[in-house]
Amino acid sequence: MSKKDNNNFKKYIPTILYVILAIFIFYTIAIVLIPRITKEEDIKEIDYVSFVNMVNSGEVNKVEVKDKTIAFEAEEKGEKTKYVTNRMYDPNLVDRLVNKNVKSAQVLKPELNPFVSFLISTFGTIFIFVAAWWILSKVVFNKMGDVGPMNFGKSGAKIYVESTDGIKFENVAGQEEAKEALSELVDFLHNPKKYTKIGAKLPKGALLVGPPGTGKTLLAKAVASEAEVPFFSISGSAFVEMFVGLGAAKVRDLFKQAEEKAPCIIFIDEIDTIGKKRDGVGISGNDEREQTLNQLLSEMDGFDARAGVVILAATNRPDSLDPALLRPGRFDRRIPVELPDLAGRIAILKVHAKKITKEENIDYEQVARATAGASGADLANMVNEGALRAVREGRDKMSQRDLEESVEVVLAGYEKKNAVISPREKRIIAYHEVGHALVAAKQKGSAPVHKITIIPRTSGALGYTMQVDEEEKFLMSKEDAINNIVTLTGGRSAEEIIFNTRTSGASNDIEKATKIAKAMVTRFGMTDEFGFVALESMTNAYLGGDSSLQCSPQTQYEIDEAVQKIIDDAHNEARKILRENIKALHAISEYLLRQETITGEQFMDLLKQYEENQETETQKDIEIEN
Ligand code: ADP
Ligand code: ZN
Repeated sequence: MSKKDNNNFKKYIPTILYVILAIFIFYTIAIVLIPRITKEEDIKEIDYVSFVNMVNSGEVNKVEVKDKTIAFEAEEKGEKTKYVTNRMYDPNLVDRLVNKNVKSAQVLKPELNPFVSFLISTFGTIFIFVAAWWILSKVVFNKMGDVGPMNFGKSGAKIYVESTDGIKFENVAGQEEAKEALSELVDFLHNPKKYTKIGAKLPKGALLVGPPGTGKTLLAKAVASEAEVPFFSISGSAFVEMFVGLGAAKVRDLFKQAEEKAPCIIFIDEIDTIGKKRDGVGISGNDEREQTLNQLLSEMDGFDARAGVVILAATNRPDSLDPALLRPGRFDRRIPVELPDLAGRIAILKVHAKKITKEENIDYEQVARATAGASGADLANMVNEGALRAVREGRDKMSQRDLEESVEVVLAGYEKKNAVISPREKRIIAYHEVGHALVAAKQKGSAPVHKITIIPRTSGALGYTMQVDEEEKFLMSKEDAINNIVTLTGGRSAEEIIFNTRTSGASNDIEKATKIAKAMVTRFGMTDEFGFVALESMTNAYLGGDSSLQCSPQTQYEIDEAVQKIIDDAHNEARKILRENIKALHAISEYLLRQETITGEQFMDLLKQYEENQETETQKDIEIEN
């Protein structure tokens, strides 16, 4: 964005220089030359008596008599001098002059014609204003898309057309359903006759719906370059301008130009910024947005789909869109672009790793497993981070380690190597993390522990336990949910059991656990008290998910109690597990404290050793008793 502005600005530097030069020349003329014409160089003032004396002595050879002054030229010893004196009542003046044979002639240069000076000052002023106006319209208003004061509502061509960067469908990984839906549009753009012959109308627009960074822009570009048509791209927010009416003018513009270039693709990113539901309430605040939206709707209606213009729009908050936008004939196709699944993540990692020099044995599946919930953009970022890490460590190939480390960088930030943490706090952190891991390992059906670390990260995490599911899960059972909550309470339980304290380090765990427990009650119908009833609705599912309760205050109270109970039970369970395995907790925590990071395998080995020891000990106990 800022780079673009910069370029815009650079483009106008010659213009600005030109205008500055013009102003400079104008002023040179005005200040230097005009006085030359009008002002007499060197005129001495003199009193009237001296004038009369000079006339009498014959020095004066020309006079110019004016209403109030007399200008004259005198010659003394061959040197001519010009004088001016105030005119006095002198009835004999003419006689004196005639006697001495003084000529009456022009002495002073003529004053500038008042009309001419009027012209110069007026046009000068106008010229300066026009120049300033011009600069303003070129530089300032151009940033707003060529809808400047001088070309209001006229075409602002170049800003819309964008390069597709040669992105084809093959560059978009793991969005097979979306690609399939879009390939029909590609075919239509290639060969519209095939469709119009049979009388079919193709959708005018398709709405790409999904979380940020899943490849919506990428897909739109791919459609354009697969179909080899121009790609007009604009962000919804670019329509919403300071001045009411400009946004609508831009929409008009865009469609006019697109029609000229048809067949082509118009891509409107973040369409929700203009396409939000119109509300009857409130005045003016949203006038601009509504006008823009209305213009968009009417353009889409007045638009013959057979002209070959296909409109793609992207949003991550489909529920906030105005229903008018979604009705047939407008964005009647809705193409979900969801977060990639395991296979999708593997494919995306491979697409991005293609350009990177790397070792041969990289296990993408391993990395993909550890990144459930990551978007395409996250994964692209991870690959890049991995390559950067290899460079940082002076290697010329990216390795599996690099990629794994970069996953953590993207998810949790960089390692904070020089963070100073007191030994006691470090111990608490270690026990907290091992608490999570141990509880997870001791429950059936929990995802295996992949890594435990107590190296702090720039995101603020002081340590974490990574669990990686063996297979992609699409459903969460009640048992899974409870398992999760028990695992989440494991950290705090360890703090309580070992240090008899509660630290703020568990705040994130608490938040997550509460969220799961609440969803179990209000959305998943997993409790007997409430059963199969929706008590809460989700909005903004793609942006973190806000939710709003839909129930009476009494029910709300009961919900809170139910949530409390689920978490309390889970917490007790976690404490029980840790007490039963307290020796392992100590041993593994001390080991982690020394190592700072241990892998899932190391963790399981240690745990197994302890279980075996314990078994032999109990056997010994039994033998002794016998
Ligand atoms: P969106 O428009 O959905 O927010 P983008 O299309 O702008 O996301 O994607 C941002 C970046 O993430 C892309 O430039 C690309 O590098 C990467 N990316 C996202 N999804 C994919 C995908 N399915 N395949 C390959 N790369 C992807
Ligand atoms: Zn924790």
